[in-house]
Amino acid sequence: MAHVVTEPCRGCKYTDCVAVCPCECFYGDADQLYIDPGDCIDCGACTAECPVSAIFIEDSVPERWRHFVPLNAERVRALKKVPGAHVTEKVGRGAG
Ligand code: SF4
Ligand code: SF4
Repeated sequence: MAHVVTEPCRGCKYTDCVAVCPCECFYGDADQLYIDPGDCIDCGACTAECPVSAIFIEDSVPERWRHFVPLNAERVRALKKVPGAHVTEKVGRGAG
């Protein structure tokens, strides 16, 4: 099991979730953040921190966002090869 970032994260300029993760699970592209399902220990800290409730434990991802479960795994796999995509500190993620 792991936690999963879903649709409401798209466009978030902040990364409050990252600051509380004990395992540095987060990777990001221009759209949103994603959680590495291999590193997440399901502590739940990030879920409480996200102001738009974008993060769910895998079992509880709403039906309409189920595709974010494989998407998080796929994007993390790809983003591990992209310099700077591993987000380990809270940052503003640019304007817009
Ligand atoms: S707090 Fe994290 S998970 Fe929530 S919307 Fe912002 S970047 Fe995404
Ligand atoms: S549940 Fe815990 S370990 Fe998993 S991504 Fe969130 S803060 Fe990190």
